[in-house]
Amino acid sequence: MRISIKDITSLPDQNKKFAGSSDLQNFSYLGSDFSINHIEPFDVVLSMKGTGKLHIAFSTTVTIVGACDRCLTDVSFDIPVVADETVEVAEGQVVADEDTGSYPFVDGEEIDIDELILNEILVNFPAKILCQDDCKGICPVCGKNRNLVDCGCDDTVLDPRMAQFLDVFNSVKEVK
Ligand SMILES: [Zn+2]
Ligand SMILES: [Zn+2]
Repeated sequence: MRISIKDITSLPDQNKKFAGSSDLQNFSYLGSDFSINHIEPFDVVLSMKGTGKLHIAFSTTVTIVGACDRCLTDVSFDIPVVADETVEVAEGQVVADEDTGSYPFVDGEEIDIDELILNEILVNFPAKILCQDDCKGICPVCGKNRNLVDCGCDDTVLDPRMAQFLDVFNSVKEVK
């Protein structure tokens, strides 16, 4: 969703609350696709600090579904989203920050809530997505999911480091 800042920027030191929503459905991260299954209901609070600063705040939890890094089975996991941004305003418009330039989540007189949520998801993204801590992954010999079947292939050459190698292998495969 997008929220117009029009009605708040002329009200020094006041705040306004909006029922938040999001149209985000899926996104890519490091070559893998993820879908967003659920976003906890949340409120967005816009507050003016004096006349020159606008504070944007909300927090929610996003439930995401994506493939396990080792066995590629779909896994559901939660990521906390806490948006806490302050932008400079002048004459009812957001002005670019002197150091960092324009804000990616501001479009004219509108705050792009989806952009803020996506940004927080990426910042808080888990380093590894596993269906279970000891996921056995895919058999490098026959390609079966070893959590489901004991295929009995001869993988005596494998040691624990191989599991990490397979993670890389799988993520490379995903990028294609
Ligand atoms: Zn797995
Ligand atoms: Zn096998």
